[in-house]
Parts: sequence; structure tokens; C-alpha cells
Amino acid sequence: METEKLNQTGGGDSVPDIKCNVVECHYNKNIMCNAPMIQVDHSGVSRSTNSEQTKCETFKPKA
Ligand code: SF4
Repeated sequence: METEKLNQTGGGDSVPDIKCNVVECHYNKNIMCNAPMIQVDHSGVSRSTNSEQTKCETFKPKA
């Protein structure tokens, strides 16, 4: 399925209240996501039936 247009606030604000335990991600700050936006996609399937079949596409490893 085609990726939908990303909605950006334009204000440079962080996406509010996304708790994320992936502390090895570049965008993680104090177990919260600090990215201006994130994209979540299917993971290995075309139709997810549980959260394990979703993934954060915005993940970037810490340098
Ligand atoms: S970009 Fe994704 S993996 Fe990285 S901190 Fe945000 S929600 Fe977590």
C-alpha cells in the first residue's frame, strides 16, 4: 500500500508523548522519542494482526 503523506506541524515540535524503549535509537531521549515525526510500517507482513508485526521506520542507530 502506498505510504500516506506525512503530516508535519511545521513548528519543529516533537511528536508528543511517544514512549520508546529503543534507547539505542538516535532519536531516543530519556526513553521518549524525540524525533519531529515518526513513520510506523508493517513488519514482514502486508497486514498486521499484532504489534510485533509493526515497526518504526524512523529508527536510526546512534552514531
Ligand atoms: S524513531 Fe522510533 S525507534 Fe527511534 S526513538 Fe522514536 S519511536 Fe523509538
